[in-house]
Amino acid sequence: MPQPTFRLQDDPVGGLPEEWDAAFAEIGERPFRARQVFRWIHTRSVADPAHMTDIAKTLREKLSTWQMAMPVEIAHAHRAADDTRKILVRFARRPEAGTVETVLIPPMPDEDDDDDDDEAPPVGPKSGLRAPARRVTQCISSQVGCAMGCVFCASGVAGLKRHLTAGEIVAQVLLGRTQLDPGEAIRNVVLMGMGEPLHNYDNVARALRLLTHHDGLDLSTRRVTVSTSGLVPEIERLGRDFKGEISLAISLHAPNDTLRSQLMPINRKYPLSELIPALRRYPLARRRRITVEYTLLKGVNDQREHARALARLLAGIPTKLNLIPMNPIEGAPYEKPEHQDVLDFQGILRAAGYSVFIRKTRGDDIDAACGQLALQGARAVKRSLPVFEAPGSGDHGRA
Ligand code: SF4
Repeated sequence: MPQPTFRLQDDPVGGLPEEWDAAFAEIGERPFRARQVFRWIHTRSVADPAHMTDIAKTLREKLSTWQMAMPVEIAHAHRAADDTRKILVRFARRPEAGTVETVLIPPMPDEDDDDDDDEAPPVGPKSGLRAPARRVTQCISSQVGCAMGCVFCASGVAGLKRHLTAGEIVAQVLLGRTQLDPGEAIRNVVLMGMGEPLHNYDNVARALRLLTHHDGLDLSTRRVTVSTSGLVPEIERLGRDFKGEISLAISLHAPNDTLRSQLMPINRKYPLSELIPALRRYPLARRRRITVEYTLLKGVNDQREHARALARLLAGIPTKLNLIPMNPIEGAPYEKPEHQDVLDFQGILRAAGYSVFIRKTRGDDIDAACGQLALQGARAVKRSLPVFEAPGSGDHGRA
């Protein structure tokens, strides 16, 4: 799918600060005005010039012909008993453009807070919040649907509808901030929602620059993770463009080509003989690790021999493994693995020296697997999923 040339007027939330400077120079405005507008959008989640109280009326009038509005809004929001909030997002003024999902995931009560003093503080619901806070992870989407066709994934079943713009990707975080509880702040952003982020490389790379820009959300690069099914050239491009500072997660799900190609068609294009060397070459900073996601499917890839093969495959790569017991999706033939098989799988990898975590399903009482809410959204807007909050009714994050 071709990527059109970026135009600030079409996607203001996706504009980089230097692009704002240049665009403002063209309309006879000074750079500090450009930065003011940028900060309103990226630190206060306000994109409508009418609400930018310190902007001159003449400038607001000049901006009135630009698409100055948040590109996303809440279609449905649903809160689980563990405070995970799953938000079905639609595109303001573009009802035909589909829906995606974003999820706010608070830490587990017993989760370690491995805070580092040398990194940017988390992003609070209000500009200037820099106090310690309950650190929330936000999962965001990069495409409507997905072209990769992984057989166990609801997004893959739906196919690709379109790439999100950079503004639509960033705006999910700006919207997420407005849904935080008092005392919460966004700590990590993971591109693990609907879509294959590296298939939408240009827009995702732009979004990464915005999410980590010091005049904007100012997230630490190590706290922003791109999760990929294994697009080898783009993994290398990401490593080059961001010098390995953006965290990388790889959806592996199988320890050999035969099985992986059955589960993930992308493996036929980029087999393990290309993917694994690309992971080895990723220019990780010292003491950083690649996250390996491995969904355990009962009787398919969850046996002891699979764990042993996985240990051999990843030998020498600094990794952290997340084992994800399958969360069954409607219409897919895969089942949740036996608990003992999950423990055995973990034990074999741990014995081989790996850090291995079993990911607890969050939001147990909502559909929390990749793509599920958005898929349901197409059907469920009619069926009326329980609505947690009306669009825009949260009172956090207002300027
Ligand atoms: S698992 Fe990820 S890459 Fe695979 S189909 Fe789903 S969204 Fe796409």
